[in-house]
Amino acid sequence: MLKNRKYDLVIVGGGVIGTFCALHALKKKKSVLLLEKDELPYEASFRNFGQAVPSGQALNAWFEYGRKSLKIYKELQQEFDISLVGNGSWYVASDDQEATLLEEMSQLMKDRNYGNRLYTANEFLEINPHFKKEYVKAGLFFPEEASLNPLVMVHKVREYLIKYMGLHYHNQCSIIGVEKKRGIAMLTSSKKQIFWGDHVILANGRDTQFLLPEHYPKEELTISKLQMLRLTPQKQLLKSNILTGLTIRRYESFHSCPSFAKLSTSPEQKLLQEKGIHILFKQAQDGSIILGDSHEYIPAGQQASLGFEISTEINDMMLNEAKKITHLESWQVDSSWSGFYLQSNQSEVFTKTVDNVIHIVNGIGGKGMTTSPGFTAEYIHQLFS
Ligand SMILES: Cc1cc2nc3c(=O)[nH]c(=O)nc-3n(C[C@H](O)[C@H](O)[C@H](O)COP(=O)(O)OP(=O)(O)OC[C@H]3O[C@@H](n4cnc5c(N)ncnc54)[C@H](O)[C@@H]3O)c2cc1C
Repeated sequence: MLKNRKYDLVIVGGGVIGTFCALHALKKKKSVLLLEKDELPYEASFRNFGQAVPSGQALNAWFEYGRKSLKIYKELQQEFDISLVGNGSWYVASDDQEATLLEEMSQLMKDRNYGNRLYTANEFLEINPHFKKEYVKAGLFFPEEASLNPLVMVHKVREYLIKYMGLHYHNQCSIIGVEKKRGIAMLTSSKKQIFWGDHVILANGRDTQFLLPEHYPKEELTISKLQMLRLTPQKQLLKSNILTGLTIRRYESFHSCPSFAKLSTSPEQKLLQEKGIHILFKQAQDGSIILGDSHEYIPAGQQASLGFEISTEINDMMLNEAKKITHLESWQVDSSWSGFYLQSNQSEVFTKTVDNVIHIVNGIGGKGMTTSPGFTAEYIHQLFS
């Protein structure tokens, strides 16, 4: 006899992956326990930019996961305010090469029945008059895309699952051991609690050194450190996600454009790309402008050498580039923070099953907010079919 209750599924990690695995398993009428080490989770899923932009994803299954995720977010928003704002995304080209990529992308997306509209520079500036004429060469708008408040979304979804779908949740519950015992999974917490599940999902994010570290291939996994800025609240200017020239050069989807391979890069662009900088803007409900982001990389397990400091040099590079793109009422920085995520160099997400009952689902990289709801729907479907 097991002393404690056994669940159909126990999930370690209350980020976006863990929380949406819980949602889909609950929809299948499974009993689910979600365990989170912190009082309130505050890792990547709470520090990010909060854009849900399938248009940026590789044009394979991950683009479809992004579309499915948007649908899931929209359905949830109708039942419960999860902070979704469906105002679409703009890509803004800064030169003729990027403008060509926007034309090609528009067609690629039309072929996939994904709504979008191309705008000339003048048309774009009419709608967005605060952008700088010298910067804008063309615009591409995706009306279906959305933005979420990362400080709110996952917490709201979790609340919803607890309140209406019977999720069991323990916070301040650090799991320090997981193994197969008596044919099922047994988890141990740092407070010596024991939990049992027919299956366990480990969605514990960047800290791969604690649980089954021997199953994470070091050569395959990288940690990325990102820097973000929040500018002081100001009058409402930006309704949508704004993604700019360096983003067009960076996002996976654009790699499928015929002209992508011919792109030439200026020395200034190279300097920014070396720090993984591309400029994204959005305006939060309180009027503050969120500005991102930069990327530095290190093999997983060596993240201490990425440091915890916010680099003023990187922030200044982002601000200088942003000032070339748009006029704002104020460029005063209210806060700046770093966030970290794990990513796989071999696949879009790192998954591994150990002893049939323990499932690692991690390393989704920089697309977790856009794709996790759709991806986890498929993952949970496979797990319980
Ligand atoms: C600055 C930044 C900007 C980004 N912008 C975007 C964006 O605009 N759009 C987009 O799609 N993606 C974006 N991303 C990527 C996205 O945030 C991540 O892909 C996603 O949050 C990863 O989710 P996760 O659930 O795997 O990890 P996490 O959010 O890290 O969750 C893991 C959780 O597990 C918990 N945990 C760890 N160990 C244990 C343990 N032993 N016991 C119990 N709990 C444990 C942690 O406390 C944590 O809460 C961004 C990321 C960053 C950092």
